[in-house]
Amino acid sequence: MKDTIVLYPNIGRGHLVSMVELGKLILTHYPSLSITILILTPPTTTLAATDSNANYIAAVSTTTPAIKFHRIHLPPLPSSAPSLPDHFLSLELSRHSTPNVAVALQSLAKTSTLKALVMDFMNFNDPKTLTHNLNLPTYFYFTSGASTLAVLLLLPTIHQNAANKNFKEHPLQIHVPGLPSFSTDDFPNEAKDPSDPTFNMLIRTVETMKGSAGIIVNTFEAIEEIPIKALNEDEKIPPLYCIGPVISSPYGEEDNGCMSWLDSQPSQSVVLLSFGSMGRFSRVQLREIAKGLEKSEKRFLWVVRSELEEGGDSGELLLPEGFLERTKEIGLVVRDWAPQQEILSHDSVGGFVTHCGWNSVLEAVCEGVPMVAWPLYAEQFLNKVVLVEEMKVALAVKVGKEGLVSSTELGERVKQLMDSAKGKEIRQRVFKMKMSAAEARAESGSSRVALDKLAMSWKLSNSVRGLNFSP
Ligand code: UDP
Repeated sequence: MKDTIVLYPNIGRGHLVSMVELGKLILTHYPSLSITILILTPPTTTLAATDSNANYIAAVSTTTPAIKFHRIHLPPLPSSAPSLPDHFLSLELSRHSTPNVAVALQSLAKTSTLKALVMDFMNFNDPKTLTHNLNLPTYFYFTSGASTLAVLLLLPTIHQNAANKNFKEHPLQIHVPGLPSFSTDDFPNEAKDPSDPTFNMLIRTVETMKGSAGIIVNTFEAIEEIPIKALNEDEKIPPLYCIGPVISSPYGEEDNGCMSWLDSQPSQSVVLLSFGSMGRFSRVQLREIAKGLEKSEKRFLWVVRSELEEGGDSGELLLPEGFLERTKEIGLVVRDWAPQQEILSHDSVGGFVTHCGWNSVLEAVCEGVPMVAWPLYAEQFLNKVVLVEEMKVALAVKVGKEGLVSSTELGERVKQLMDSAKGKEIRQRVFKMKMSAAEARAESGSSRVALDKLAMSWKLSNSVRGLNFSP
């Protein structure tokens, strides 16, 4: 029987991709281990879109057969479950999946020696019930940075100290060890209001993470040295394994003509604008972006989501009249999706206007591309603070009235990034970080050492038999 690590992502492609990449990293260095990924398959009535993962799973099974997938079909949510937006519905679903996941683990334990369960930090199961009498240590995989982790782990204390005030109405300046001071306005919405049903879910996650065998973080020491040190010094926090940067490999998606267009552009001349898997804008904001790009007079590759913030389809007609014609020599507008990581690695790209999603940040850092930070949702506002004030690899856009970034503001920031002395400084700094990222992943680098420690903790874990691999 093979020693097996069970990875348990939350529902949704992004979560699955992160776990697959973690699995691949583990197998690269410990090929004698076996990886099994649990796939929660929700009832079609609640979250219908998830079976689009089938093609991706088939592709991984072909390229990396050592990764096995184990499907868990879930019953519908009980009618008593709170009504939540889609991205939180999947979390509630994971919580209700506990008996099903426990049964799956019991069944896997009959055919392999389970050494550890690695849970997505967005899964809300009680690990003790999950791993009932399997003697299986539970780890968490945190796919954002150590700075966000530090804030999340301190969230219960921050709210207790503020007498459980609603930060949406009473914002506070916050001091978290290892981080620059920032406002609770930069918290994700769900972390601001203790009466929000999702708030309690977050707090429960914090408690289970604190009681876990360890937290694996997709970051590396050189970019978050101070917050990592602060977390390591806190005795209430389990061991931290900073094994990043783990970057997702592309899976043969359509490139929408991006790469050949970039081939025809001068070195480091193009600014990429891409806002993650969910970044949508209003009609008004889209027009401001277009005007801002024209004002900047810089070359650009802009990924525009079809879906508008207010609902409906953006369509090209919403861009200022003649915009595409006027900019056709210097710009490319791509609908919905572009191979971001490949684009960032292209020599023609010299800047990146980003929503500050952590994967995007790591991809930019690994390619040495300086950023303009324009956070839109979730923990991206915290990431912006870290990028601008701590890592100093990005310029922030100022958001004006009614949450709008004006064309003048965007145009100026883009120009500043590409042309000014400050932009040059940022470029040099992020280039150094690119080098540090490579060092962290190399033999004896900080992330390799962390991965070895993690594997050693699995080796020493209380399982029925010893491990057959040597960290
Ligand atoms: N991405 C991409 N093309 C797009 C938009 C996003 O390849 O048009 C990829 C991007 O490279 C990153 C991921 O999707 O790997 C987005 O993750 P991130 O954490 O940055 O943002 P999220 O989508 O989770 O908000």
